[in-house]
Amino acid sequence: MHKLPKLQYSYDSLEPIIDTKTMEIHHTKHHQTYIDKLNIALEKHPTLINKDVKELLKNLNLIPEEIRTAVRNHGGGHFNHSLFWQMITPNKENKKFTGEIAKEIEKEFGSFEEFKKKFIESGMARFGSGWTWLILENKKLNITSTPNQDNPISEGKTPLLGIDLWEHAYYLKYQNKRQDYLDKIFEIINWTFVNELYKKK
Ligand code: MN
Repeated sequence: MHKLPKLQYSYDSLEPIIDTKTMEIHHTKHHQTYIDKLNIALEKHPTLINKDVKELLKNLNLIPEEIRTAVRNHGGGHFNHSLFWQMITPNKENKKFTGEIAKEIEKEFGSFEEFKKKFIESGMARFGSGWTWLILENKKLNITSTPNQDNPISEGKTPLLGIDLWEHAYYLKYQNKRQDYLDKIFEIINWTFVNELYKKK
């Protein structure tokens, strides 16, 4: 059975960028619900229950058709949020834009500012709910977005940084201002974690 992962920081520690209430509801209600619904779907196919959710999403075509959509949506929701909690941090050291990933971003996009601009544009261009991503695609950095709870991993791409575009991620504090949320969240990105994902490629 899949379980809600513990956060490495407290719900109030990302204030004022992300408010305490949003963090608490997002983690204990939204993320938990994806996990509950994924578990319900997998109960019908017990051989899949011990598989890593990442493996399930990598090969969606191998998932029995009757639960494929549930695995895609709720498994995707579980995997995306498990990544997301690690991609943001209150830790000062981890927030430093440094390491191999910083060099590669500057090389690929010209500068950090240019990267940030394109990443936010990608998030603004996604209509409705979804995620905006920095990915590795054919060993090259790229920016993309996905609808709903889809993850680039299902298309053979490696996610390095993903930001939740669902209103539940920002509505209490930012209301309809997705742009402000995206702009502010750049202050709490865990570049140490993103760099680790990049090095693992
Ligand atoms: Mn979310």
